[in-house]
Amino acid sequence: MKFSYQMPVKVIMGKGCVRQNADLFNKGWKKALIVTGKFSAKKNGAQDDVCHALSECGIQWEIFDDVEPNPSVVNVRNGAKAAIEVCADVIVGIGGGSPMDAAKAIAFLATNLVDDETLFKGAFETRPLPVIAVPTTAGTGSEVTQYSIITVPEEKTKKNLCHSALFPEIAFLDASYMEKLPHDITINTAIDAFSHAVESYLSKRSCSMSSIVALESMAVTCSCFETLRKHETIPFEIREKLLFGSMLGGVAISQTGTTAVHAMGYSLTCSDNIDHGRANGLLLCESLKFVYQQNSEKIDKIISVTGFKDINLLEVLFQAMIGRYNILSDDDIRHYTDLAIKAKSITNSVPQPDYDDVFGIYKRSVGII
Ligand code: NAP
Ligand code: ZN
Repeated sequence: MKFSYQMPVKVIMGKGCVRQNADLFNKGWKKALIVTGKFSAKKNGAQDDVCHALSECGIQWEIFDDVEPNPSVVNVRNGAKAAIEVCADVIVGIGGGSPMDAAKAIAFLATNLVDDETLFKGAFETRPLPVIAVPTTAGTGSEVTQYSIITVPEEKTKKNLCHSALFPEIAFLDASYMEKLPHDITINTAIDAFSHAVESYLSKRSCSMSSIVALESMAVTCSCFETLRKHETIPFEIREKLLFGSMLGGVAISQTGTTAVHAMGYSLTCSDNIDHGRANGLLLCESLKFVYQQNSEKIDKIISVTGFKDINLLEVLFQAMIGRYNILSDDDIRHYTDLAIKAKSITNSVPQPDYDDVFGIYKRSVGII
């Protein structure tokens, strides 16, 4: 057996964990930049809890709440300007994957005002500022990854800023922030988490450690799907399970990266404005059928862990949760295939789909019927 495994984030989970562990902010920091979206962190109590903890440690703060969903390069550069202006020495990202990813890119750019090419190489001279992550969706696992996924609108795709210095120092997981998370976002983010676990398990970079984490993530997340399908009001215990499963999915991809599903999903998000998790969900089952042709053993393991009899039953459940989107013409699909085939993450796939394979997965998943 041979592997290397690094996951340096301190993870604290539990209701009220930010206030109860306020002393963890006591690291000599003087000024925090809170990076968040426009509304949700104020409504769900996460921002108040963070401000309270910072005050207890005598840390001043400023708020950058302009993070947009699927943050762009311009968006994070504006955040970095704010960080520099206020002399922040720590960045606290509160929200879904968008604010947490933005927090990491801002932490990077605040100490290294480099051009876009250098940014996406993850090359820096000065270590990025430390990041604290407080997730308020259960899906991306960004609180435990070294990735910051940033949209490049001119290229109609997303790029990955990746460096081990971008692992947050601490992740605070409190599912009570998700109590009023809208049902569609709850479902889309849960499917994103499931997709991370599945892609990690199937990645050519998977190892014994990452596979254990990925399989547990799948089992935990999948055990919530029936509740999500049937009910709009989600009990707290299920919220906690989803948050735990999504964190595990993040740990899994921090070791392996994602694969073709994410590479293909980016086009649906950037061109058709389809939510990140839903985009993955629309593509996942056809991708699994493609992998099955050459790697049935691993797909059978996924099926057994999740309790589904076969991929078709998973597909039926997914359609009940996220509907269908069969509207893309062959021309659209050719364009999306051109983009997806160039994405770095597609090279992690086993088997690695070629142009025709990617075209076929798109066509069967989202092509006009
Ligand atoms: P998101 O874009 O962060 O948030 C979507 C929406 O949910 C926003 O309108 C947000 O409102 C709202 N929201 C967030 N928390 C809420 C709450 N507790 N209650 C009510 N509304 C809430 O969505 P996401 O799916 O979590 O993140 C997607 C992003 O993460 C994409 O850019 C994707 O590429 C990236 N991602 C990163 C990784 C990684 O490893 N780094 C992995 C997968 C995906 P506000 O704007 O008001 O907050
Ligand atoms: Zn994702």
